[in-house]
Amino acid sequence: MTDTVLPPARVLVVEDDRELGPLLLRLFRSAGYEPDLAPDGQAGLHLALTHRYDVMILDRGLPAIDGLDLLGRLRRSGVTVPALVLTALGTVSDRVTGLDSGAEDYVVKPFEVEELLARVRVLLRTRVATAERLTVGGAAFDLITRTVTRSDGAVVALSGRESDLLRLLARHPARAFTREEIVARVFPDASGVALVDTYVHYLRRKLGATAVATVRGVGYRLGRA
Ligand code: CA
Repeated sequence: MTDTVLPPARVLVVEDDRELGPLLLRLFRSAGYEPDLAPDGQAGLHLALTHRYDVMILDRGLPAIDGLDLLGRLRRSGVTVPALVLTALGTVSDRVTGLDSGAEDYVVKPFEVEELLARVRVLLRTRVATAERLTVGGAAFDLITRTVTRSDGAVVALSGRESDLLRLLARHPARAFTREEIVARVFPDASGVALVDTYVHYLRRKLGATAVATVRGVGYRLGRA
């Protein structure tokens, strides 16, 4: 068995507190992670939907979209990244509500940074096992075996190029790509953009017509398999 060297874990911090946010950013940087800071729920939602993170730290008390609301939206959008919710509320019912909303862990403010880091390490333990899996709507996409396990249990095998195209779309589920961008990133050896349409057709034939969505005037984005 060979050791897999993982890149630094990417951490999304959503915290509106002007002191705590930058402090968490520095804390995670000095712990060897690559953190991004979103100062409100809207920015957090955007970052979480357009980037790939290994763990999310969500403040519960945020303006406009609070931390639990944000987490609920992300879970409904298929974002399965482990989440730790920070909160000033520490009653049992608050913790239960937090965990019920889809958080993997819950830390009450004020907290010791060592404890926060230890809990984040626990959440990152599953990273090796999940690093090569993406979701496509309700289906699980395994990048190693190039198979998609649909929500009805059917397993569909993809070719290398089909898998490369689906991986690009699944890694950026909220983003639409132009055919030119797809060629540049997935089929750099192709002579034109028509190849993109061909592989979108193949993916739809294998995974269902809704697996890849057409965005009028732009190109394609991930759909639901
Ligand atoms: Ca707050």
